[in-house]
Amino acid sequence: MIQDRIAPEFWYHLKSDVNVADHGSRGMLPSDLLSCHQWWKGPDFFQEPEEQWPKSHINKQLVEETKKLYLSLKYLDSYKTQKNKNSKVGESITAREWHEALLLLVRHVQGVAFAEEILKIKANKICSKPLRKLNPFVDDHNILRVGGRLRNADLSYDAKHPALLPKNHRLTTLLVAYYHNKFFHPGAQALQCLIVQNFWIIAARKAISSVISKCCRCFRVNPKILHP
Ligand SMILES: [Zn+2]
Repeated sequence: MIQDRIAPEFWYHLKSDVNVADHGSRGMLPSDLLSCHQWWKGPDFFQEPEEQWPKSHINKQLVEETKKLYLSLKYLDSYKTQKNKNSKVGESITAREWHEALLLLVRHVQGVAFAEEILKIKANKICSKPLRKLNPFVDDHNILRVGGRLRNADLSYDAKHPALLPKNHRLTTLLVAYYHNKFFHPGAQALQCLIVQNFWIIAARKAISSVISKCCRCFRVNPKILHP
């Protein structure tokens, strides 16, 4: 399909008075069509240099954000599946784009998984029990983060206030797998220490163990034989 072959950033919105396609979709008598100059030759601006064509992007921000999400998902998935080890996906996204896309994903996941808690925090109400002890807050970028006791510690902002992630979510699993691969297959405890520099996973130990138990490389190094 044409939409698959041409990237969204090259699509523009045309006003109705210059959009030739409207003649067909809104109905036109064959006699009128015969004399319709625009139908046969295209809109008048086709006669002008391309730089002067009207360019009204279709929600550019949405296109950009979707592109970032797409790239980050592909990037994360390549670590999980190991299928695209030599893929160039990772090379086509800058560190900044990667970070921004990840924040978009985290914000989206939090918005679904912690919807009620976010509303309570914004209304200055007390969170429900599992989260209360973390003293969570929503930062300027709408990311739900751990608050509390490390506020004055000499650590990075992310380490002091890691972003919250739900336990049973695909993004959480992908991120755990990403860290596990990136840091050369550490054990559960070390992996948790690395992840908490950026993310606070609810019931982290279970999420981490689940990923490590499925890692073929770790199994080869330290096989655990299941007895009946
Ligand atoms: Zn491993």
